[in-house]
Amino acid sequence: MSDQRQDRLSADDAFAALGNETRVRILRELGDVDEPLAFSALYDRLELTDSSQFNYHLEKLLGHFVHKVDGEYALARPGERVVEAIRSGAVTGDPELERTPVEGRCSDCGEELSIQWRNGSVEVFCGTCESRWDRSWGRVGSPDAAESGYLGRFPFPPAGLQNRSPEAVLRAAHVWSTLELVAVSAGLCPRCSATVDREPRVCPDHDDADGPCSTCHSSFEVRMVAVCTNCIASFGTGAVSGLLTAPALYAFLFEQGLNPLAPEAVDAVDGVLNDYEEEVHSTAPLRAEFTLSAGGEELTLLVDDDLEVVEHAR
Ligand SMILES: [Zn+2]
Ligand SMILES: [Zn+2]
Ligand SMILES: [Zn+2]
Repeated sequence: MSDQRQDRLSADDAFAALGNETRVRILRELGDVDEPLAFSALYDRLELTDSSQFNYHLEKLLGHFVHKVDGEYALARPGERVVEAIRSGAVTGDPELERTPVEGRCSDCGEELSIQWRNGSVEVFCGTCESRWDRSWGRVGSPDAAESGYLGRFPFPPAGLQNRSPEAVLRAAHVWSTLELVAVSAGLCPRCSATVDREPRVCPDHDDADGPCSTCHSSFEVRMVAVCTNCIASFGTGAVSGLLTAPALYAFLFEQGLNPLAPEAVDAVDGVLNDYEEEVHSTAPLRAEFTLSAGGEELTLLVDDDLEVVEHAR
C-alpha cells in the first residue's frame, strides 16, 4: 500500500519537521478526513497561494508523519499521534474553567464543593474546610502550595472540558484518573504504555488527626508512588488506589454494587478507596494492613514491599 518507508526520526528532527504552521495545518487537515487526499485536494483545503511552498512543506512531513497511499496523502501513525495530542489540548493553550460550584458535598464538612481547571488538572475545593490542605501534590515528591480550601486534584486533559457541565467534568475527571490508576496498578504507564516502577512510601512520623500530616502532607501513611521507566510521567496516591487490579479489592467493590469505572458510582467508590484504616506492621520489609468498609462489610488487605496483596480477609 504505502510507497514511502517510515523512517525513525530523532526527537529533534521530529519537532523540527513540525516547526511550521503550514505543516501543522497539513496534519490537521489530513486528520479531518477519513480517506487519503490527492495533492490538489489537500492543497485546496489549505487555501494557500503558493503550490511550490506547499509542496516543500509536504515533503518535510513525508515518510514519517504523512505517507503516500496509491499516490494520495494520509496521516502515518506518528502524524495521527500529533493530531490526537493537539485535539486533546494537552500541548496547546489552557482552557477556561474558573472556580465553579458543583453538586456534591465535602466528605469532611458536608458543604458544597467547587472545581476549577488548572495546570492539567481539575482541582476540587471546599469553601468551609479552609486551609485544611495547604499542599498540592503534582510531580511525585514535590507538593506545591495550594489555594485555600483545596481538597485534591484529578489530572484531566483540556478536551475533557468540552460539552460537559461542571458536574460532568468532575465525574469524568474522576473516571479518567481511576483509569490511569488501573493502568499504573497493572504496572504500565497510561501515557506511553512502558513499564512503571511502583513502590510504597511510608511516612516516618505520620499524624493526620487534624488534617493532612505535617511530615508527608498527605492523609495516607502509606502512599504508592510510580514512575514511568520511559517517559516523564509519575503518579502518587494512597496505597489502596494503587491496588486497583487486585482481585480481592475488585470482588469486594463489585459485591457492594460499586463499579470503580462507572461515572455514577465515583463518589461512593472514592469514599471506599480513600477512607480506610491503615496499620503498618513493619517497614523493612513493608507489611501493612488496610481495612476498607462498604455497605456494612469490611475487607482487610495485607500488602508487601512490592505493593502486592499477600493476604486478604473479610
Ligand atoms: Zn469541607
Ligand atoms: Zn505523614
Ligand atoms: Zn510513560
